[in-house]
Amino acid sequence: MAKKAFKSESKRVLDMMINSIYTHKEVFLRELISNASDAEDKLYFRSLTDDSVKMNREDFKIEIKADKESRTLTISDNGIGMGQKELEQNLGTIAKSGSADFVMNNELSDDVDIIGKFGVGFYSAFMVADRITVISKAFGSDEAWKWMSEGADGYTVTECEKDSVGTDIILKIKESTENEDYDRFLDCYRIKELVKQYSDYVHYPIVMEMDKARKKEDSDEYESYKELETLNSLTPLWRKNKKDVTDEEYKNFYQSKFRSYDDPLAVIHQKAEGTANYTALLYVPSQADYNYYSKDFEKGLQLYSRGVLIMDKCPDLIPDCFSFMKGLVDTEDLTLNVSRETLQHDRQVSVIRNALQSRIKRELADMLKNRREDYVKFFNAFGLQLKYGLYQSFGQDKELLEDLLMFHHAADDDMITLQEYLDKMPEDQKYIYYASGDDLPKLASLPQTDTVRKKGYDIIFVTEQVDEFMLSILHDYKEKEYRSITSGDLGFENDEELETVKNEQNERKELLDFVKEALNNEVSEVRLSGNLSDHPVSLTSSGPISIGMEKVLNSMPTGEKVKADRILQLNNTHHAFKALCEAWDADDKDRVKLLSEILYDEAQLIEGLPLANPTAFVDKISNLF
Ligand code: ADP
Ligand code: MG
Repeated sequence: MAKKAFKSESKRVLDMMINSIYTHKEVFLRELISNASDAEDKLYFRSLTDDSVKMNREDFKIEIKADKESRTLTISDNGIGMGQKELEQNLGTIAKSGSADFVMNNELSDDVDIIGKFGVGFYSAFMVADRITVISKAFGSDEAWKWMSEGADGYTVTECEKDSVGTDIILKIKESTENEDYDRFLDCYRIKELVKQYSDYVHYPIVMEMDKARKKEDSDEYESYKELETLNSLTPLWRKNKKDVTDEEYKNFYQSKFRSYDDPLAVIHQKAEGTANYTALLYVPSQADYNYYSKDFEKGLQLYSRGVLIMDKCPDLIPDCFSFMKGLVDTEDLTLNVSRETLQHDRQVSVIRNALQSRIKRELADMLKNRREDYVKFFNAFGLQLKYGLYQSFGQDKELLEDLLMFHHAADDDMITLQEYLDKMPEDQKYIYYASGDDLPKLASLPQTDTVRKKGYDIIFVTEQVDEFMLSILHDYKEKEYRSITSGDLGFENDEELETVKNEQNERKELLDFVKEALNNEVSEVRLSGNLSDHPVSLTSSGPISIGMEKVLNSMPTGEKVKADRILQLNNTHHAFKALCEAWDADDKDRVKLLSEILYDEAQLIEGLPLANPTAFVDKISNLF
């Protein structure tokens, strides 16, 4: 029988697993039990709609057998099973892209539960076994197949015999060494402990034959016997009373149930009665999953009906802005065999969703108020999602989310909320000022930053693509409008300086009109500004699209190219403007045109916009020498 090679990236992960020094090797058991339970879920789901499945819920179980003599540990399930193809596909490759890279680039260490996080679950068994045999019969098939591997050099798949549908995973446990006690994985009491620790909440019975001893009848001698025992408690954690559950238990449940490796920042355990009857157990993670901000990510909460899982990821229970939440909802108000489509329109589901939404908001607001450090951690992980939420709901979620936002700002290095910004605002300040750009140091050094700061006003700094769009949709916070510091009107009206600028602008109207024309009407207006400190020019915009938005929109692969309505601002006190005036007064129009073009290109460069013709720009500058 020819051996097949593992797909190359799987092989690398396998190598890592086999040679791993990971100290929590025992998690392999949790992984195999989870896989067994997943397979049973799949067959159970199927039974809801397919009469040919002759299984009831009570019939599902997971069986563990430890045999010290043959050094094998067997985990059997009566779930959906795998056919020849599935054995090759599922066990010959790593499904989740990127996981192999992550494994290779990171030492396996105690604090990163890489196995749970990256779905290399099945392979983790190679940490404790030097041979793995999988015997499986898929539901609906008459054939059974055997997959076998002794490590990274490949696997075989052959036909074999198996009576019932389901899967047996047989591990040939490694010999113990000086540093590692592998024998513990053959000891039924140690196994029982591990099941209790990691898999207690699996909702199918996990049974094992335990070695027991009893007194012989009519004798003082003892005899040993075996007895089947259910190892897990089967009472779901969320059905217990809040006061009977410890923090540690909540955390363990989170980590094993949702394959998370971080410590959650908050736990919400809520029993609701009234318009909706449900129990929810929700977690605020402290870190984003590796694929959270990618297309692969699927939001959703687990949905149970009277303790029975009916959907693994129900997206309708959670709004997009809180899609990072992990957890479950158990309700009595739904029937068992609801389909995805009916759920979407179910009134009960939307009632629950709304209730959860307020509850989550309350939890986050509370964290912000009382546990600032945790909240900052939360916001660094998921703030972006709140912003997208605001943007995508077209501001509908404004009330829900705006108080949860935090921003970097000009006054110091910490982040602040909008309310805190408002609280510190001098009375004469008309707007909430913001600056948008690629990074914080650049924003701090913008010419207009100085101008606004000199007035004693703080500035919010935003650096994400979505930020400006979001602010423009939000429009205002408690009736204070957002205003970009590059905008032409900063609201400093009563400034004498502004008067001077205005007068000069009127005086120089002809020149400014000429500049606009010289630029082929690339800009819709040329005006003077007193807000540029030492810089000769700046580019701003009027209308709904800012220059920053133009950049973002034009960087997207699809869609038409857009152009902001550009306004060229010239610093009336700068010698560049003086030079322009001198050329104009000397009636040297060619020179005015040349200087105008240079100034416009400079303004575009400051804004990080690409120049239409960089060579021409360089030539023009060099010709001035
Ligand atoms: P994950 O469970 O995250 O998908 P694993 O490496 O644990 O990753 O398992 C890989 C795949 O192998 C599973 O997705 C499943 O399709 C299949 N599989 C593993 N164990 C079983 C089992 N006991 N019964 C049926 N399918 C299984
Ligand atoms: Mg798995």
